[in-house]
Amino acid sequence: MALIVHKYGGTSMGSTDRIAQVAKRVAKWTRAGHQIVVVPSAMSGETNRLLGLAKELAPARQTAEYLRELDMLASTGEQVSVGLLAIALQAEGVAAVSYAGWQVPIRTDNAYTKARIDSIDDRKVRADLNAGKVVIITGFQGIDGAGNITTLGRGGSDTSAVAVAAALKADECLIFTDVDGVYTTDPRVVPEARRLHTVSFEEMLEMASLGSKVLQIRSVEFAGKYKVPLRVLSSFTPWDIDIAEEAKSGTLITFEEDEKMEQAIVSGIAFNRDEAKISVLGVPDLPGIAFQILGAVADANIEVDVIIQNVSRDGKADFSFTVHHNDYARALDLLKDKVLPALGGQANVVGDPRICKVSIVGIGMRSHVGVASKMFRALSEEGINIQMITTSEIKTSVVIDEKYMELAVRTLHRAFDLEQPGA
Ligand code: ASP
Ligand code: MG
Repeated sequence: MALIVHKYGGTSMGSTDRIAQVAKRVAKWTRAGHQIVVVPSAMSGETNRLLGLAKELAPARQTAEYLRELDMLASTGEQVSVGLLAIALQAEGVAAVSYAGWQVPIRTDNAYTKARIDSIDDRKVRADLNAGKVVIITGFQGIDGAGNITTLGRGGSDTSAVAVAAALKADECLIFTDVDGVYTTDPRVVPEARRLHTVSFEEMLEMASLGSKVLQIRSVEFAGKYKVPLRVLSSFTPWDIDIAEEAKSGTLITFEEDEKMEQAIVSGIAFNRDEAKISVLGVPDLPGIAFQILGAVADANIEVDVIIQNVSRDGKADFSFTVHHNDYARALDLLKDKVLPALGGQANVVGDPRICKVSIVGIGMRSHVGVASKMFRALSEEGINIQMITTSEIKTSVVIDEKYMELAVRTLHRAFDLEQPGA
């Protein structure tokens, strides 16, 4: 008997029919003798619908009073899901009880709309499991120290599931979703993309932060911190698929590097269209300039990703960095209004929102030289110009013109032999 956490995403919970299928699948796992905790998302589209209602009434604001109410509102989607799933399980003849985050409780800080989990009290859940019940807990939400409902950021149910699994020291956390695992890249861009049977936790973390949308980044961080065995698998197989087969399906996120020894040097190609480039040209080449520019950006709570500064000529340097699209206009204004005047008015700011970032990821890069140059050669053979480069131990990213994104991803996928065998 194992203790297993199942997480079902919005599409998997998308209708009462789908919820009935989830109930049948969960019932199958309990009949096989396992203790099951289920963490579902809201029904697909529901969180957007709820947040849309708020917009109909008032423009978004960043005040705590407003954000508190957004969380109060958005958290209800998951409450609907857990109630419906418990009803469906009971109809299957399986004892089940549902809880909202505050009932467990799942304690968080008070950063509304992006709260972090501080602790989870497992006593009630354990008592129910020991009494033979399936326990269903809302994803995406918790309660702060003052008793307010909080949410964990979009896609946060993944994090709830992993955190619950960590708190219960579950044997495994199964993330059931609408794709059947983690792929070498997005199959919509490269149809020959291949499902990975295993991916190391570090690679998964890079892929999630570089734009792969399979798991919320924070859930991967959490899994790493507490060593939660995590598997991404499909909820669209027939619910009565053989349980032993199902338990091995999808992609397992591993913590053992040895298991990866035989694997390719590059495991995946990630891409991200959500960034824009900003360059500050002709800044004086003096100590403190990077701080003056990026300090102002950080103070405005704008996250910066790739940064480059060229070698100076005639005492002047150019300084470029990327920010999220949503922060682009604000960052440009800030630089023009505040930073340029402070730099003595000689520098100049230009921006380009039509860029993208393409990355190769693989823990094999640690022990192999020449991986990045192979990437650059493949791109140059397609005539793709690289605007910026950034590397870490297990990834190399390039910033290129957005219009070459798909070509770049396909080219790199081929260059690093990631296609399906025989494709
Ligand atoms: N329902 C929330 C969202 O749409 C959380 C989740 O689905 O993970 O972002
Ligand atoms: Mg999701």
